Amino acid sequence: MKIVDIRATTVAVPLEAPLRHSNGAHWGRFVRTIVEVEADNGLVGLGEMGGGGESAEAAFRGLLPYLRDHDPFQLETLRFKIANPTASLYNNRTQLLAAIEFACLDLIGQQLGVAVCDLLGGRIRDEVPFASYLFFRYAADGFAEVRTPEQLVEHTRALKAAHGFTVHKLKGGVFPPDYELECYRALAAAFPGDRLRYDPNAVLSMAEALRFGQAIESLDNDYLEDPVLGLEGLRLVRERVRVPIATNTVVVNFEQLAANVLRRGADVVLLDTTFWGGVRACVKAAGVCETFQVDVAVHSSGELGIQLATMLHLGAVLPNLTYAADAHYHQLRDDVIEGGKLAYSGGAIPVPSGPGLGVRLDRDRVARYAELYKREGGYPYDRDPGRPGWFARVPNQHFADPAVPAEL
Ligand SMILES: [Mg+2]
Repeated sequence: MKIVDIRATTVAVPLEAPLRHSNGAHWGRFVRTIVEVEADNGLVGLGEMGGGGESAEAAFRGLLPYLRDHDPFQLETLRFKIANPTASLYNNRTQLLAAIEFACLDLIGQQLGVAVCDLLGGRIRDEVPFASYLFFRYAADGFAEVRTPEQLVEHTRALKAAHGFTVHKLKGGVFPPDYELECYRALAAAFPGDRLRYDPNAVLSMAEALRFGQAIESLDNDYLEDPVLGLEGLRLVRERVRVPIATNTVVVNFEQLAANVLRRGADVVLLDTTFWGGVRACVKAAGVCETFQVDVAVHSSGELGIQLATMLHLGAVLPNLTYAADAHYHQLRDDVIEGGKLAYSGGAIPVPSGPGLGVRLDRDRVARYAELYKREGGYPYDRDPGRPGWFARVPNQHFADPAVPAEL
């Protein structure tokens, strides 16, 4: 099998409502680049990357001279052809590599008639449990605002009823920490027996992180994720807070993983199939984590169905995946894959069983959301549409005012 073409299409898929986070917001849609790698036998493998537009599409097209006639089975040489460590200092293609790796795995699986998880060692589980991913959000098109503890609990109750979640992750760092503590406690009180996690995306000061962490010690916490910025900061929080510390920001490659093994700052590493440069890198990292008793979870960077499939195949094969995975997925109104959004059942999503990634593009949906991207364009991830002029500092000292209704 040989690669003969690489195509990239930017799509914008609507979210239920604009989602607020500590460094800005998702402005009501996810912008993603859909990648198709075509082989000489007519098979097409699918990949996906966050962001999009002309520069992303051109970056993928620019890989064709490197990869024309490349055999998709040759995954190790793929890495060195487009992302060798020294060249990466100049051209930083880790996320491009990830999307191409997804597509090559999809091609291999289709060619052999096996699912990607079976290429990675075989499935240990048939479904991957997910956490609800709770955001403070603006109201939009009949989807309710989430700002107060009562609204948050009501939103969570609806998600739990619809999808069966028993783990809840609150994306914080938007409002002052004491207010978010009140929200977190409201979740604990409303859903006894369920588990909780909190992620302010590293914007708390050390003092706030310690205060928040110590205040939740008695609750059913999975972990406290990136309370402050940096491995050394996490290590200091870890010494004084009896809640496991997790990160998806400062352990995203093998050098950082080694640093965390030698001088532990995080108990849990959230593996992201994009940030790490592919599914196989995540499997390798999980093996290192297994050896050194670092727990793993699966990170969500705002996926559509293609990347979600990579997360499902990854989750299927990791023996040490003891935490529910994260996914923004339930916040989407639609997807670009055949059949629309994959369904949750009992808080989990079945691992696709078809060959390759097990998902195929719905051409009508791709066309519709490529059109939406052309109409609405991208959005600044690091700005909040409800707070003109504001931008995030780390640590943040300018939190949003929870008394102001979240309306645009
Ligand atoms: Mg995070």
